[in-house]
Amino acid sequence: MLSSTSILVIAEGSMIQRERVADNVFFFQSDIYAQVTAGAIIGPNWAVVIDTLAMPEETLAIRDYIEQELSVPVRYVINTHYHADHAWGTYFFPGATVIGHSKCRKWLEEKGSHSLEATRKQSQTFRNVKIILPQITFDEGQLSLRVGKKNLAIFPLPGHSADNLAVLVEEDRILFSGDACMPLPYIVDGDIDDLVASLKKVGKMGLENIVQGHGDIVLRGEIEGYIKENLYYLSQIRKAVRKASRRKYPMDMLEEVSVESCGKSRVLIVGLAEELHRRNLIALYRQMVGELPLASDEEDEDFDDEVYDDDEG
Ligand SMILES: [Zn+2]
Repeated sequence: MLSSTSILVIAEGSMIQRERVADNVFFFQSDIYAQVTAGAIIGPNWAVVIDTLAMPEETLAIRDYIEQELSVPVRYVINTHYHADHAWGTYFFPGATVIGHSKCRKWLEEKGSHSLEATRKQSQTFRNVKIILPQITFDEGQLSLRVGKKNLAIFPLPGHSADNLAVLVEEDRILFSGDACMPLPYIVDGDIDDLVASLKKVGKMGLENIVQGHGDIVLRGEIEGYIKENLYYLSQIRKAVRKASRRKYPMDMLEEVSVESCGKSRVLIVGLAEELHRRNLIALYRQMVGELPLASDEEDEDFDDEVYDDDEG
């Protein structure tokens, strides 16, 4: 979800949720960091892991479950995108071949080690982490991977980030969406038009379940409402930014736009929704208008420099 610099240790000691979604299809969810999720598809001789969790000990717990309890080695790891909370645990699977978008490889290579260095300064937890680059990459069309009797269709689903991939377990109609699906759409590192197109596509896929990149599994009966609600949120923030851009002090107006007024609850993603919503508004303003929104109390200050400095910190 968050950009690769954003991992912070919220609590020590790992707890992860595990759920069997269908035969040989598992879902894991972090109790520690932003309800981030991962998945596993188990074949007779080997397994595929879809994403890792934010904290090393959480990814280790997934590996132990698959390799010790289910007794199969992990042969493939699919990175849905390059963000730290999804991709940094890949190094726990040294024997696996890693699959990702070509931009995921590029960004892990260009930004990953820099972000990791910054994160290590904040926390000892990440001292052993190594950035692993996908060996199999693609950027359009579809990649098929057969695991036992199941076919995985891997395809781009951009918007949250330009490198986001989704994985459809065809036999079960279960979609691992990466962060294209989240309880609150998040576009700070992405593109709102791409995300709208991706959500519409997901809505037409005839799915049984969506495993979101964060949050709980979306069930068949909830999917239509879920897609509508996420599209409504995106249209509301777009409207708000358009309106604010006509004001002299757009930030004054954006500050008034609550997450609730855009159709979402602030309790989503363990209470992070309001903060993510604020970042969405500022990022979207920047994307649509080409500059940062000015607030009335910031005029005459060296506004741009200050904000950029904050971003670096
Ligand atoms: Zn992400």
